[in-house]
Amino acid sequence: MKDILTAPFLTELVRTCANMYAHGWDERNGGNISVLLDKKDVKKYLDVKKVLRTMPTGFSAPALDGRYFLVTGTGKYFKNVPYDPAANLGLVRLADGGETAELLWGFTDGGRFTSEFPAHMMSHAARLSVDPDNRVVMHCHPDSLLAMTYVHDLDERAFTRTLWQMETECIVVFPEGVNVLPWMLCGTNEIGEATAEKMKTARLVIWAQHGIYGAGRDLDETFGLIETAEKAAGIYMKIAHLPWKQTLTDADLHLLEERFGVKARDGYLS
Ligand SMILES: [Zn+2]
Repeated sequence: MKDILTAPFLTELVRTCANMYAHGWDERNGGNISVLLDKKDVKKYLDVKKVLRTMPTGFSAPALDGRYFLVTGTGKYFKNVPYDPAANLGLVRLADGGETAELLWGFTDGGRFTSEFPAHMMSHAARLSVDPDNRVVMHCHPDSLLAMTYVHDLDERAFTRTLWQMETECIVVFPEGVNVLPWMLCGTNEIGEATAEKMKTARLVIWAQHGIYGAGRDLDETFGLIETAEKAAGIYMKIAHLPWKQTLTDADLHLLEERFGVKARDGYLS
């Protein structure tokens, strides 16, 4: 059996947590990540029959029964993940239709998965229903996107169009746009279900006055999605109060669609 601390799925998650903290997106215990793992990869490092303890999840997710997830812990600080991955992260397998999480590794100080586990697992199920290759769900608190939810209309089409206009790359990176939820109480099954519903049509879901959820096929893709949207929001917050002389027009955005072979969300461009 190989040492799990050398597993690429683990070292990549550790690096990503450190990078997100360095970006200022995960103050204190803010932010959480879950990664869906393949059983054959887990078996290289762990005896999957050896369950350390079980934890109720508080929700049901039959579509994810038997699936393996590497997930950040509740109350844990991203800045500390590189120094003690085994205390700050856990590897769990869902059982009983998703109602139980079986801990196979990690949470060594008696901890448990992120309080946003329902939103993560429901989002995984929703993304897998539209993209069987989705593996990552990531939540964090990037400054500019958060700031934008105070001053910009929360209408999804309007919010998306503004981001697309702030940087040429945006429509190429997220042609499906961003979906937006109004402020809701976090940590609940209700916000989990609402986020998952929004995840069916976009990989980015803004939580107004809170942060953002991203989903993707790997950590790089998911990080890059949030990074690009946050960059655009940063530009918006720099110029929103200034008189604009020009912006990217719908004709420009159509040229980008053609050049990069992407299709903007239906009805979002004129
Ligand atoms: Zn949060």
